Amino acid sequence: SAKRHGRNVSQRFRPALDVQDTPQMALVYSLRDALANGGQLELYYQSQHRTSDGLVVGLEALLRWRHPEHGLVSPGDFIPLAERHGLMGMLGNWVIDEALGQMARWQEMGMPKLPVWINISAIQMFQGELESALSSGLARHGIAAGQLGLELTESVLLDERAGDIVPRLEALRERGHRIAIDDFGTGYSSLGYLKRLPLDKIKLDRAFIRSLPDDPADAAIVSAVLAMARGLSLDVIAEGVETQGQLDFLRDAGCRLVQGFYFARPMAVGALAEHWQSLAGQSSTVQLGTTPVV
Ligand code: C2E
Ligand code: MG
Ligand code: MG
Ligand code: MG
Repeated sequence: SAKRHGRNVSQRFRPALDVQDTPQMALVYSLRDALANGGQLELYYQSQHRTSDGLVVGLEALLRWRHPEHGLVSPGDFIPLAERHGLMGMLGNWVIDEALGQMARWQEMGMPKLPVWINISAIQMFQGELESALSSGLARHGIAAGQLGLELTESVLLDERAGDIVPRLEALRERGHRIAIDDFGTGYSSLGYLKRLPLDKIKLDRAFIRSLPDDPADAAIVSAVLAMARGLSLDVIAEGVETQGQLDFLRDAGCRLVQGFYFARPMAVGALAEHWQSLAGQSSTVQLGTTPVV
């Protein structure tokens, strides 16, 4: 619509008007350069593990920006900036293409075919470019949609600007993508949408994991989410698992999948390759999945 178009245009030109916010604007300009010139952006990958035996069953792609002066800038700092200043569409497309390109390189190297999950911003949903960016990327790199999962937060799923999201999610799933709801439990909405939306997986936010197993309230919440997800036939992965105690609690409570520093930090591609080699060489309890289980 004209109104929506108008909003996008004013966002795109906000940099020039926001004179009092100089350090932030400098960052916006250098992010724009990074997108145009390449080289500074990178995807890190964090492994996802089965609680029963530690098997690696997937990877989450996490965006990193190596700024020439500031060093590694956290996505929590530059993604909101990109969203506010009209760069998120381009950035999101870069992530899609980079993840798929990396998956193709891993396949050429004969690495196990692990599903990769990418994070999708609200802007990508309501700008409506997501579907075409995905399909052209999959075709260009020769990757099956079933290998690329999409993580969306509650606020993305419920953002009215995205229009009726149910048919869009259905179409994405029909192509083969799996859909996860990220940071589950941190939103403000009712649980009714879980029944309405076609989803595959809940990512339980690390806020509920942090104080496990000692905090009885978090233990109750986690157990209740697991029971609810079972009833809804949704898979659950717990984020931010850092300790053996957390892992043991989750496994005993019936949580099949975890992700967190306990098993591995997000890693650059080179470090991940070394990590895989050392896993394959020395461990019988932590292995790579050769078939996607998630
Ligand atoms: P997220 O998708 O919930 O990703 C999980 C975050 O938790 C990551 O932070 C990861 O490094 C961190 N993490 C993983 N395991 C642990 C743990 O055991 N303990 C602790 N304390 N933290 C852990 P990161 O990489 O800084 O990303 C932050 C957020 O930025 C992500 O949260 C996601 O919302 C967003 N993000 C990252 N990459 C992208 C992207 O490519 N596109 C979009 N739209 N958003 C992204
Ligand atoms: Mg995520
Ligand atoms: Mg998350
Ligand atoms: Mg989170």
